[in-house]
Amino acid sequence: MGFKLSGFEGGKVEKHEMVIIGSGPAGLTAAIYAVRGGADVILVGGYSSGGQLMLTSEVENFPGFPEPILGPELMKRMRQQAERLGAQIIDKDATEINLAERPFKVKVEDDTYIAETLILAMGASARELGLPSERKFKGKGVSYCAVCDGMFFKNMDVAVIGGGDTAIEDAIYLAKICNSVTVIHRRDKLRAQAVMQKRAFSLPNIKFVWNTEVVEIVGDSKVEGIKVKNRITNEVSYIPVKGVFVDIGHVPNTMLVEGQVELTENKYIKLYGETGTSVKGVFAAGDIADPVYRQAVTAAGMGAKAALDALRYLQEIKEKE
Ligand code: NAP
Repeated sequence: MGFKLSGFEGGKVEKHEMVIIGSGPAGLTAAIYAVRGGADVILVGGYSSGGQLMLTSEVENFPGFPEPILGPELMKRMRQQAERLGAQIIDKDATEINLAERPFKVKVEDDTYIAETLILAMGASARELGLPSERKFKGKGVSYCAVCDGMFFKNMDVAVIGGGDTAIEDAIYLAKICNSVTVIHRRDKLRAQAVMQKRAFSLPNIKFVWNTEVVEIVGDSKVEGIKVKNRITNEVSYIPVKGVFVDIGHVPNTMLVEGQVELTENKYIKLYGETGTSVKGVFAAGDIADPVYRQAVTAAGMGAKAALDALRYLQEIKEKE
């Protein structure tokens, strides 16, 4: 198809009934349900397809896998399932989304995908500490992914910042590779699931530093240590480490739709009903709209609901025509 659209010049233009953006558990499950529901669907999956599970090691809480499965393997299987059923997946990033006109438009570099209905499933990304020294040492000792970068710190001392599931999962993973892992947490209680806490407390090379925040990451060309401050005593001390893994939660990837669809105070997509958004015909699923559960299985469940809601919306439009 070769027609031109204002604001979306250049590249090819394709029309589909549904465009899904995001290739984590939410997006891929939405694709599985949408193709099985008979819709003409295209999924814009991003250059680094697969979402946050690509950065995880063993997943042991996704039903159907009695033995742990590696995050990337789980995502590979979800993708294979979606593709076998007929979902078309584009391994490029969406660069622009236009919800002002109908049909909606999604730009992927020079190409434009037009759709009656959209499912936003772009997930969330690692939150930064916000320290200037963190920026300076990104990729030079500061990491947001233990599975990706852990091997660079073999037999070295590292720190993990945070007290949630990601931090504790990473600490356990790094304890197998590194000499020691120091978990720095701003409170005196972990947020992580009890089973993971128990595992971490049992490992002799994981140490915990409570009620403490990182004030500076120190080094010359690479990380040499961290300056930390006890939040109760205000005492500042230095911990020598070669690697700093920042695991302090996530921020939703709503940048492309900010100002076009209603967001919550924390910039998650505001839901109307189960998966509806403030724009009729635009649905959301997974971590982009869920500040509470944020599990692979709940994201997949939301993906299924969003697809069913979008299929119903397509049906309504057809009946009106
Ligand atoms: P999270 O649950 O939001 O935990 C973030 C941690 O970082 C908290 O301990 C928080 O401290 C701390 N923190 C936040 N901002 C901070 C800052 N500016 N400075 C210092 N510390 C800060 O995030 P998450 O661990 O990434 O987990 C996200 C979701 O994914 C959760 O729902 C989790 O259950 C899920 N998840 C599940 C698994 C699994 O099931 N295997 C694995 C990974 C993640 P406070 O505790 O004081 O708030």
